[in-house]
Parts: sequence; structure tokens; C-alpha cells
Amino acid sequence: MNANGKAERTQNRYYGLKRMLEERRFEIIGEVQSRIRDVRNEDAIARQSVRDEAETCELDIQDDIKFALLQMKAETLEKIGEALARLEQGRYGRCYECGEDISERRLRALPFAVRCTQCEEAREIERQRARVLESRQGPASLFTDMYR
Ligand SMILES: [Zn+2]
Repeated sequence: MNANGKAERTQNRYYGLKRMLEERRFEIIGEVQSRIRDVRNEDAIARQSVRDEAETCELDIQDDIKFALLQMKAETLEKIGEALARLEQGRYGRCYECGEDISERRLRALPFAVRCTQCEEAREIERQRARVLESRQGPASLFTDMYR
């Protein structure tokens, strides 16, 4: 591939990822706004009706869940903001281990992935191996010779 082709590919990737992140941000903002609207409506209804203790408690729990969800969304928005900033600096979507570009497909599925598929798989295999070794250190270690 010539230099122009590579630059073009980098440019396409940049715009593709930027659009992906912005769409996601837009989606979440929309969800949060409609949730806030829901909460306001429910509050208005709740205020009009007389509630007993149990009902009040139930509503409190629901409020807690809603709040937790909103907080999660807020955190995701923050992460998207950071990802966009990194993208501007040309540091977004690069594998933490090998420094190669993480595929756009993977980033669409997992926008905050820090490793490419290969490194992630290698890491997973390494983790499984460690787990197996750990389990062999028990009484089962008598049989480890059988696997060599
Ligand atoms: Zn990698």
C-alpha cells in the first residue's frame, strides 16, 4: 500500500470511529433525557396520590435503581468524552499491549476495549493457564505428571 492509501485509511478510520462514538453519546443523552422526563412525570403522579409506607419504600428503591442507572450512563458519557479526546490526539483504539490499531469492528462492539482481539485472546489463554496451574497445586498435583 502506498503512503496516500495509508493516510486515507487512517482518515477513514478516524471518521468512522468518531461517528460511532458520537452516535453512542447521542443515544445515551437521549435515553437519559427520556428517563428524567419519566421520573418527573412519576413524581407528579405520586404527589397527587396518597401513599402508604410500603408504597413509599417501593418508590424509594425504584428511585435508587434509576439513580444508579443514570450514574452508569453519566460514567459512560464521560468515557466517550475521553475516547473522543484520545481520538483527536490519535491515541484512541490502539492496543495497549502491541500498539497496533484495534479493529473498527471490535471497537464498535466494545468502544472502550484497550487490547486488540489477538492480545485479548492471548491474555485469556494466559489467565486460563494460570487458573489450571493454581488448581493443580492442590491435592491434585499428584497427577500433574500424567499431563506432561
Ligand atoms: Zn494487541
